[in-house]
Amino acid sequence: MALSVCEAVSASGYDKAGDFVLDAKTMSLAASDLFESTEKVTLIAKVVVLAPMAEALDYAVPAGMVLQAGEHVIVPLGHAKVRGLVIGFETPEPDEDLSRVKTVVARLDDPIVPEASLNFWLWAAGWTLTPPGVFLNGCIRALKIPRAAPKQGYVLTGEQPARLTKARQAVLDTALVPMGLGDLALAAGVSTGVVTALEKEGVLQKVDLAREEVYPQPDPDFAPARLNDSQAAAHQLLQMEQAKHAFAPVLLDGVTGSGKTEVYLESVADVLRADPEAQVLILLPEIALTQAVLGRLEARFGVEVAQWHANISNGNRRRIWEGVASGKVRLVVGARSALFLPYRRLGLIVVDEEHDGSYKQEEGARYHARDLAVFRARLDGALVILASATPSLESLTNAEKGRYAWIRLEQRHGTAVLPDIALIDMKAHPPEKGPNGETRWLSDRLAGDILATLKRGEQTLLFLNRRGYAPLVLCKACGEKMTSPKTDSWLVEHRASGRLVCHLTGFSMRKPKTCPHCGAQDSLISVGPGVERILEEVRSRFPEARAEVFSSDTTPDAASSASLIKRIEDNEVDIVIATQAAAKGHNFPNLTLVGIVDADLGLKGGDLRAAERTFQLLAQATGRAGRKLKPGKAVLQTYAPEHPVMQALQHQDRDAFYAYESMSREVAKFPPYGRLAALILTAKDQNLLNKFSRELALFIPNTEGVDVYGPADAPLALVRGQWRKRFLVRADRNRDLQAFVSHWLAAIKRPNAIRLVVDIDPYSFL
Ligand code: ADP
Repeated sequence: MALSVCEAVSASGYDKAGDFVLDAKTMSLAASDLFESTEKVTLIAKVVVLAPMAEALDYAVPAGMVLQAGEHVIVPLGHAKVRGLVIGFETPEPDEDLSRVKTVVARLDDPIVPEASLNFWLWAAGWTLTPPGVFLNGCIRALKIPRAAPKQGYVLTGEQPARLTKARQAVLDTALVPMGLGDLALAAGVSTGVVTALEKEGVLQKVDLAREEVYPQPDPDFAPARLNDSQAAAHQLLQMEQAKHAFAPVLLDGVTGSGKTEVYLESVADVLRADPEAQVLILLPEIALTQAVLGRLEARFGVEVAQWHANISNGNRRRIWEGVASGKVRLVVGARSALFLPYRRLGLIVVDEEHDGSYKQEEGARYHARDLAVFRARLDGALVILASATPSLESLTNAEKGRYAWIRLEQRHGTAVLPDIALIDMKAHPPEKGPNGETRWLSDRLAGDILATLKRGEQTLLFLNRRGYAPLVLCKACGEKMTSPKTDSWLVEHRASGRLVCHLTGFSMRKPKTCPHCGAQDSLISVGPGVERILEEVRSRFPEARAEVFSSDTTPDAASSASLIKRIEDNEVDIVIATQAAAKGHNFPNLTLVGIVDADLGLKGGDLRAAERTFQLLAQATGRAGRKLKPGKAVLQTYAPEHPVMQALQHQDRDAFYAYESMSREVAKFPPYGRLAALILTAKDQNLLNKFSRELALFIPNTEGVDVYGPADAPLALVRGQWRKRFLVRADRNRDLQAFVSHWLAAIKRPNAIRLVVDIDPYSFL
C-alpha cells in the first residue's frame, strides 16, 4: 500500500533538537506521490527550512504544484528531506542558471500561516538574532502533535442486503449521508447491532467523517460590566484609541483593585463586536493564569476562552493552533508564547501585569513578550493595552514622552482603600531569640500585628519570596557550603520533603547525616529563612492559628492552587505564608495584614532592575491587604529603611520612586535611555572559553555610542559542568544594536565546543 505524502510525513518526526526529519523508509513508500519535474523552472519558492540556516533558500516549484506563501513544504537539504515554510516567490530571469536549484518535494496540508503572522515571526527572528528556521520551528511546534484520528461513520455501498427487515429498511432509508454508529442507529430507531450486521454484509461501509472543529464563540454582549465613573472614563478613552483603526499603544495604569481588568475586558468586547474577523489576545504572566481569571473571562463572554500555556493538553494545543490560523478562535488568553500563534487579524493585544518578569523568555530564542506584542500591534495596525499598577520604567517613560497613550485609574473600586504601610527597621528592632535559643525572623512588632489580626478573626499574609526551609546549608565543622554538582548554586533545604534541592538545575538529594566534605556527624546547619521556616516559627508562636504555605511546592498544579485559594477565601486559613505564587491577582476579602518578612531580599542581586523589581513585587504584595471593604495594613521588615524603594512604598509615592530610578538609569544611559544586549559564552573547557573570549574582545567594532563590557566571569560561572563568560553591550537608543552584534560576531569563527547565546534586552544578568 502506498502512503500519501501527508501520511508519510505524519509517520516521520522531530529529532532531539526539535528539527523536523523525514523517516527515510516511509519517504520511499511515498515516492509515488512526489513531484518530479523535468520541465523548465518557471517559479522559485523562497523557503525557510526548519534548520539553523541564516537565510531562506531557493527551490523550484514543480509544474502542477500550486503553492502560496505561508504553506508548509518538504524540500531536499543535503542528503536529507526537511520541512520548511514558503515565505515568498521569485520568477527566474530567462538566462539564469538554475542547474543547482533543487525542487520542492511535497506540499503538506497543514494550515497555511497567515501573512501577518509569518511577517511577524520573521521579524522576531531578526530582532532576537535567531536563525529564521529555528525561530519558525518553534512557532509551528504544535503541528508536530499528531492530529486526533478522525471519527468513523457509515455510508451505503449500493449493495442490497440478502434479507430485508423493517429495521434494516429503516437503516437504508437513513444512511444517506455518512453518520456515526450511535447517531445512525438512533436516527433509524434500531439497535447498533443492525448497523454493524449490515456493514458485515457489505451493505454499509465505514468512512472517515469529515471533521469540523467547533470553537465556542465569545459573546461580547453576554455580561457587560457596570463600570464606575472613572472606569467608564478610562473605557471611553480606550474607545477613542480603538476608533483610530491604527496602531495604538496604551498604558492602562491603575492601582491594584481599581478595575483595570474590568475596563480592558470591555475593550476586548468592543473589538470583537466591531469586526467579526478580528482576533484578540490577552497575555498574562503564567503564574496569573489561574481558575480565578479564567472564570472571570467565562463569566464575561459566556464561553470557555481558548487558553495557551505550558499546561494545556497536546490535543488542545494543536486544535487551538489550527483554530487561530483559520480565524475561528477569536479570543485567546495565554502566557508569553501565545504571542506566536498564527493570528490572521489581531485587533487587540492586552498585556496584563506588563511589568512582570515572566514575559521575558530566557531559553532558546530570548525575547520579551511585551516588547514584541507592541511590535506585533504595529504590524497589524492594532490596539495594544499594557496594564499594570506598577508599570515597567520602559512603558512609563514611553507614556510620559507621549509615545503611548496614558490612561490612569487612581482609585480602588468601591470603598476598598489602599493599606497603611509601616516600615520596621530591623537594625533597631531585631527579632529576639525564641525560648529555646532558636533564631526568629519575625520582629515583635510584626508578631504583635499578627496577634491583633488573629483576634479580629481576620487573615494575615506573610510574604517571603523564597521556597523551601533555608537557602543555604553549611557544615559548622569545616564551613563547607552545600552546592549543586559542578554548579555555582547553593542547595536549598526543603524540610517538607527532607531534600536539598538546586533551584537552578533541578538537582536534588536527601539531606546527608554527615558532611560530605569533612565527614563530621550532624554538623550541617540551615542558614537563613525560606517559607517553610517561617511556617515553623508561626506554628510555635501562634499555635492556635491555622497556617499554610502557598508556594509552587505546595501548589504544584492548578487543582491544588485552586483548592488552597478556596480554603483561604472560605476563611479556613488564618495565616498564609507565601512566595510570589500568591502575590498576584487574588482578592481575599478578609485579608487585612500583609507582612513582608525580608523586604531587602530582591535588592541583593544588584542588577539593573533590582530596585524596580523589588518595588513592583512589594507594591503588589502589600496591595493584597484590604482589597474589599476592610482597611488593610502592610508591614515591611527592612535593614535599609532609608532606601528609596522603602521610602516610596511607605509613603505610597510611586512617582518619587520612578523619578529616582529613572534618573539613575539616565545617568548610566541604561534602559530605557539606552539599549542592552548580553552575550553568554559557555563551554566545558575553561581554557578554551577564556582564550576565545579574549579573542572575541579583540574584534569588538569601534562604534560611537556603543560600549562593550567584558569578557567577565558570569555570576553563575559554572552550571552543570559548563563554564560561563559574559559580555554586555550598551548602545545609545539611536544605534542599531542588532546590526552591531551581528557584525561583531561575523568577524570571528567560533569553535563548535563553545556555545553562544545572544540576549537582546537582557533581564537576567546571571
Ligand atoms: P485590577 O485589575 O485593577 O487589579 P480588577 O478589575 O481585578 O482590578 O478589580 C478588582 C476587584 O473589584 C475585582 O474583584 C472586580 O471584580 C471588582 N470590580 C472592579 N470594578 C468593578 C465594577 N465596576 N463592578 C463590580 N465589581 C468591580
